Amino acid sequence: MAGEVVLNEAGALLRTRAATLIRETVAAIDALDEIEPEALRARVQVRLVADLEGRLREVRKLVDGQADVPLDRAWSDLSYHRVRLNDLFEETLALMEGAALRRSWQDGGCRLADRLADEISVLTPEKWNAFTVLDTEEFYAGSTRVIRVRFPGDGFWDLPIVAHEFGHFAGPKIIDIEDESVHPLAEKLKEVGEETPAHWPWLHESFADIFATYAVGPAYGLVCALDRFDPAAADQDNDTHPAPNTRLALILGTLAVCDDGQNYGRVMEKIRAVWAVQTGEAGSEGKIELREPFDQWLDFSLRLLRDRLPSAMYKGWVRTADLSRLLGGDARAEATDWSLRDIVNAAWRARIRENGDAPGWIAQRACALAESRLLEVRHVRAPR
Ligand SMILES: [Zn+2]
Repeated sequence: MAGEVVLNEAGALLRTRAATLIRETVAAIDALDEIEPEALRARVQVRLVADLEGRLREVRKLVDGQADVPLDRAWSDLSYHRVRLNDLFEETLALMEGAALRRSWQDGGCRLADRLADEISVLTPEKWNAFTVLDTEEFYAGSTRVIRVRFPGDGFWDLPIVAHEFGHFAGPKIIDIEDESVHPLAEKLKEVGEETPAHWPWLHESFADIFATYAVGPAYGLVCALDRFDPAAADQDNDTHPAPNTRLALILGTLAVCDDGQNYGRVMEKIRAVWAVQTGEAGSEGKIELREPFDQWLDFSLRLLRDRLPSAMYKGWVRTADLSRLLGGDARAEATDWSLRDIVNAAWRARIRENGDAPGWIAQRACALAESRLLEVRHVRAPR
C-alpha cells in the first residue's frame, strides 16, 4: 500500500544499484587478470578491460551525480549500461571457462582455430582480439566476440567452420567506401528484418557461408557437403538456417564468382557429386539451387566483399596441388610460406582423392605442418 512505501532521498536507490554494478564490473576486470596461460590472456585482456573500464566510468558518473541528467533518464542510462555490461560479463565468463578447459584438454584444436581466425582477421575490418573456446557446437554470440569450436569435433577437418563464425562478426563491420559511418551489410540486414523478419536469420547465416567460402575457398564447401550438412534434411529450412540445398547453392555460387584462374570446376563437381550420392541414399530431395531471396543476396554479398575486402578472397587453390600430394603421400612437406588456409585446402584436396574418406595420416601431417607455421607467426596482431 502506498502509505507503507519508505520514502528515500531522490535517486538513492538508483545509486545503490549503480554501486552494485560497479562492484560486479571490478570483479570481472579482476577475473580477466586470472586467465592462464598468459598467451591467451594477452589476446583479450587489453580490449576487454578497456571496454569494461569505459562502461565503469559512465556508471560512476551516475553514482557521483556527475551525469547531471533527470532521474528518469538516469534510470534508463543505468538500464542501458547494465545490458551492455551483461554482454561483457558473458564474454569474460566464456573466456575464463574456455581458457581453463583448453588448459585441461590439450587445447582441443583451438590453437589452430585461433590461428585461422587471426589469419582472416588481418584481412578484414574485424580486429578480433579474442580466442576460440570449446562448446557443444560452433556458434557465435552476436554481442560477444567469442567463437565456439565444437567439442569433440573432428580436429583439423573442422577448421574451415571457424571462417563461417568469423563472417558473423566481420560482415556487419564492413564500411561503405564513401562514408565510414555507413555499414552496408548491417543496414541491409536491418532493412530485410523490418520487411520480412523470418528472412533476417537466414540471410545472416547465408552471408557467413558466402564469407567463409570467399575467405577460405573450396575447403569450406567440402566440409559442409561431406561432414556437416545433413543430407536427410537437404531441402528443409529451419528457423535459423536455410536448407542445406540452398546453402550449397550459395557456396557453389561464390566459388563460381571467385574462380578467377583457380580451376574450381573439378572441386565444384565433386561437391555436387558427393551431395547427390548422400541425398540419393537418404531418399531426400538433393537439388542444389538458388531461390528468392538468396539469389539477390548472393549478388549483394559478393559485390560488397569484392569491393570492400578484395584481399580477403582466397586465391591459393592452384598452389595447393603440390602440397596436397605431399600431405596424401609419403614425401615430407617443408614449412615454406604456406598459409594455414593453404594447408587446410591442401588437406581437403588430398582427402577428396580418397573419395571423401578421412585418413588419419593426412590430418596428422597437415596438423604438424600447421603447428610448425604456428610457431613462426605467434603474434599476428598485437592486442589493441
Ligand atoms: Zn552461423
